[in-house]
Amino acid sequence: MPPAAVPKASAAVVGGSGSFASSFPAGLHEGARVLERELVFDTPWGDSPPFSLFELEGERCLHVRLHGWRQGVSRGRASRQVFSVLHRAGVRHVVSDAGVGSLNALLDPGDLVIADDFVDMTTQRDDQGTVVGEHLLIMREPVCPVGREALAAAARGLAPGRRFFPRGVYVVTEGPRFESPAEVRFLRTLGDIVGQSFAPEVWLARDIGACYAGVYLVVNHAEGVVDEWDHGELTRIFHDDADLVGRILLAALAAWPHDGACRCRELRKPTLLR
Ligand SMILES: [Zn+2]
Repeated sequence: MPPAAVPKASAAVVGGSGSFASSFPAGLHEGARVLERELVFDTPWGDSPPFSLFELEGERCLHVRLHGWRQGVSRGRASRQVFSVLHRAGVRHVVSDAGVGSLNALLDPGDLVIADDFVDMTTQRDDQGTVVGEHLLIMREPVCPVGREALAAAARGLAPGRRFFPRGVYVVTEGPRFESPAEVRFLRTLGDIVGQSFAPEVWLARDIGACYAGVYLVVNHAEGVVDEWDHGELTRIFHDDADLVGRILLAALAAWPHDGACRCRELRKPTLLR
């Protein structure tokens, strides 16, 4: 099938493991309506993963699952494919989700964290370049504060009994394997949660002039933090909470103001390196 033409869209959901198990976005928001599924686009980094196009309270949005590794496609390349499509669509707001491990002993499986900063410990994702590449990307405030507040309000409203934390540092590892006990002892000095999404997406969003924010579901303790984790519990949280995470993402996107007072686009400056 030939690649599709990229439709215009104002927002996007770059879904991780949290919304992986659900039929996202069907049935998760009364104002959401799926328009098209299985849209594959041509990009300078190869054919994109399949997107769906949906309407959310009159706004057109794209959804893509960016979790796991497609055969023959590196994780860094997959991220460029996705953000190349979002750039051509004109996307200004991006929300993401993922299942993560806790590095902080105060976090438990089932907790939700809206990260406000990150440490990129990946080793193989930065060699594919930027999508636009015309700017110096300043990471002073890497996650959009307006998007974070929209996610926090959605989490408070939809999961009132659930522990959630409106800030935290996301440590990004290369994967696909999990981290060793010795690695976790080191990573605990860097942040609160550990996972394999978030980078390079957070700075590719800035590269294309979009705001980025995400909600992360703790699915286990990292090795050596509190106790040994159980695969059955991880799987259960993964599946049982997928719809809740999906509802939070959609409610946040619907409430995210277009004229929000953030400075995400001011935190990219013309590059001096061209
Ligand atoms: Zn912003």
